[in-house]
Amino acid sequence: MEIDGFLGRLITADHTDYDAARAVWNGVIDRRPRLIARCSGSADVVAALRFAHDHELEIAVRGGGHNVAGTAVCDDGIVIDLSAMRAVRVDSAGRTAWVQGGALWSDVDHETQAHGLATTGGIVSHTGVAGLTLGGGLGWLMRKYGLAVDNLRAAEVVTAEGSIVRASTDEHPDLFWALRGGGGNFGVVTSFQFALHSLGPDVVAGPVFWAAEDTAEVLRFYRDFVAEAPDELGSVVRLGTVPPWPDIPDHLHWRPAIAVAFCYAGAVDDGERAVRSLRRFGTPLADVVAPTPYVAHQSAIDDTVPHGRHYYWKSTNLARLSDDAIDVIAEHAYTAGSPLSYAAMFHLGGAVARVPHDATAYTGRDVPHNIVIEGVWLPDQAAGLAAAETAWARQFLQALEPHRAAGVYINFLDADDDSRIRESYGDHTYRRLAEVKSKYDPDNTFHHNKNIHPT
Ligand SMILES: Cc1cc2nc3c(=O)[nH]c(=O)nc-3n(C[C@H](O)[C@H](O)[C@H](O)COP(=O)(O)OP(=O)(O)OC[C@H]3O[C@@H](n4cnc5c(N)ncnc54)[C@H](O)[C@@H]3O)c2cc1C
Repeated sequence: MEIDGFLGRLITADHTDYDAARAVWNGVIDRRPRLIARCSGSADVVAALRFAHDHELEIAVRGGGHNVAGTAVCDDGIVIDLSAMRAVRVDSAGRTAWVQGGALWSDVDHETQAHGLATTGGIVSHTGVAGLTLGGGLGWLMRKYGLAVDNLRAAEVVTAEGSIVRASTDEHPDLFWALRGGGGNFGVVTSFQFALHSLGPDVVAGPVFWAAEDTAEVLRFYRDFVAEAPDELGSVVRLGTVPPWPDIPDHLHWRPAIAVAFCYAGAVDDGERAVRSLRRFGTPLADVVAPTPYVAHQSAIDDTVPHGRHYYWKSTNLARLSDDAIDVIAEHAYTAGSPLSYAAMFHLGGAVARVPHDATAYTGRDVPHNIVIEGVWLPDQAAGLAAAETAWARQFLQALEPHRAAGVYINFLDADDDSRIRESYGDHTYRRLAEVKSKYDPDNTFHHNKNIHPT
């Protein structure tokens, strides 16, 4: 198979690396595209799109391949695969970086930290920049520097009709607004320009673990602690088991536990002071908080969520962590059948909440916490665990119903959550997104995503 004017690699079922090329992070996903067009630049994206139109092929767009719903790959159609486009170019004087559309956060952290700079990215470094940013972009630095979308200055986009345009506050501002939260609905982003900030190289970071039995007390203390926390303090609560890390004693490995993990986006001394009272709370099982190179912290939990395991997610925004909500969380968090399953709760606020609600398409800026419940099992356990972990995640979400805040983070929706897309944005933002969709992609060319229907 050939595509006119295409310089990258075309991978079809007869290639030896076809199975690797069609695999995404979630091992549940098993789709067989007719063609994977691994692009080398924007011109290849244009050529691949034209080919797809000419041959009436379904189109999926792949950045980092991490989306749990597996939208980066489709059956029978073409995957416009940006995984070979990972360059990052830092302008240290201007404090910005151009990042290609297939880059991972590890690429961004590596290049920006060489200049003592950073921007808000995801908390797992093998996640793609593109999908994460287009949905909003939560990370350790968000309370200080805003979401990934709040740091986005411009994007180069190949539109559905094959034009290469630049979107920013000055050029195609409607498109720029929609890209900042509206997902992959509006075109293929071939590069992103981010604002950068001074950070590191060392930051105070890492998790503290307490026994699962202490969950309710820890969460009550945590709720009050983060309500007063400075913007520099990013934190995520993880409810699951202790990972088998070498710096944690063997006898604690896989024990059910609550962890509060931090990253302080400021001076090490200030960071140590900021986390002191929480580290002293109760009787921690293990405390691995320490001054750590920011780059190392960004990849510290990578091995807890490897590619190829089977994952099933449920998520919601949470209103304040009332005592009742905490009791529900403590009651459900450790009843999964698999020791790999867990829930993660992000603390938002700070700079995220100070951006005007209609400035970007991302919604939920006034939400203090969200939770993502992750059923996880190994591929060879599917027969025994898939149904049980799926049911656990659904029941946990159901139990949280009275404690939910409006909306859900679009990037945490799984394949069976499409009915929640409108809820995710709310009616007003959804309608505005649909108008932009009608202008830039009236035929819904890009629909293997969290789809916004043209009006
Ligand atoms: C282990 C793990 C950790 C995570 N941690 C965080 C976190 O800390 N913060 C957070 O906010 N989210 C997090 N997420 C969720 C993450 O934001 C989404 O999974 C996101 O979709 C990943 O982006 P990707 O490029 O890797 O995905 P892909 O699966 O490649 O893409 C997802 C969708 O994005 C669109 N897309 C991808 N690339 C492009 C492009 N170049 N142009 C246009 N559209 C494109 C397409 O519609 C595609 O279907 C995490 C996910 C995982 C699996």
